[in-house]
Amino acid sequence: MHEERTDLKGMPLVELEAFLSRWGKERYRARQVSRWIYQRFAGDFAAMTDLSKDFREELSRECRISVPGVEKVETSSDGTEKYLFRLEDGEFVESVLIPEEDRRTLCISSQVGCALKCGFCATGMMGFHRNMTSAEIVHQVCFAVKRLEERGERLTNVVFMGMGEPLENQREVSKTIAILLSQFGFGLSGKRVTVSTAGVVPAMLALAEEFPVSFAVSINAPTDGLRSGLMPVNRKYPLKELVAAMKRIPLRSGRKVTAEYVLLGGVNDSEKDACSLARLLKGARVKVNLIPYNAHEYGDFTSPSEETVDRFRDVLLAAGIQAITRERRGGDIRAACGQLRRAAKSP
Ligand code: SAH
Repeated sequence: MHEERTDLKGMPLVELEAFLSRWGKERYRARQVSRWIYQRFAGDFAAMTDLSKDFREELSRECRISVPGVEKVETSSDGTEKYLFRLEDGEFVESVLIPEEDRRTLCISSQVGCALKCGFCATGMMGFHRNMTSAEIVHQVCFAVKRLEERGERLTNVVFMGMGEPLENQREVSKTIAILLSQFGFGLSGKRVTVSTAGVVPAMLALAEEFPVSFAVSINAPTDGLRSGLMPVNRKYPLKELVAAMKRIPLRSGRKVTAEYVLLGGVNDSEKDACSLARLLKGARVKVNLIPYNAHEYGDFTSPSEETVDRFRDVLLAAGIQAITRERRGGDIRAACGQLRRAAKSP
């Protein structure tokens, strides 16, 4: 049966205010509803006891609060958790919760599949199924926050580094960010919300104007020749444009942009590559996050040795560029960077 009631989940506050104003309701009603959805995880309107009974009944008739099912929860030996959600049309997406000493970071998906076809990424191999709605994107956060709360913990960071290219789903991602940052939503600071992109330049600049969030850019290669071979999106937005955009963003936010660099054995991991990368990023306020390739059955790249990774990092450091190697988390449950993949139907 087609669901005709309006889903209130995923609506930013301004939209919720406009929507509720049709009942002639005061503006603060939207704030109350928003708190119920994102801070108290109400599953229905009956629970919203600070709204009148009549209003709750009206809301129940015309609106709903969607809750995607959780199909599976896996826990890695290092404490990383992976959640598999079943969306209403039967598609599946994954999110990963990465606990660290003083942080709890949730890595969320924004698309079912991805159209960008980066050669090393398992999500890219499954092709593009569809964009996720803001309700579906934000639900990943609701689920994790609630789960953490139950064990007395708090979510501290959200990164758009799961399945999909967030900047190819800018509208729904923007709505989600509005809820993440709202004091009537999750109340996160923009510093703690990171949008990771393969380099969709115009959307990145537009989003940086809209929200004070952090950015991570998947650079992955120091030259256009190499990068276009690995990431077809580079043909549309080549490195020169991408790096220029990375230089513009911190001027507004005052914050460094993260440059992510997947190290693929024998492909982009030589000292020469490191020198070219250092030259490319010269003068940009960036910190480099090196990610040794995580193997999966859809790719035939290899991971570089530890010495190679260290040598690459040291070249960057010697050139005065901040660089760290990202620790591999959740590899045993296929939750590491680039391993998320879920086809339609069976999990
Ligand atoms: N589309 C966005 C969000 C995905 S984030 C983006 O490209 O940034 C996923 C991060 O993991 C990206 O930096 C990507 O380059 C990296 N990645 C993809 N496949 C990987 C793999 N197999 N091993 C390690 N990192 C990978």
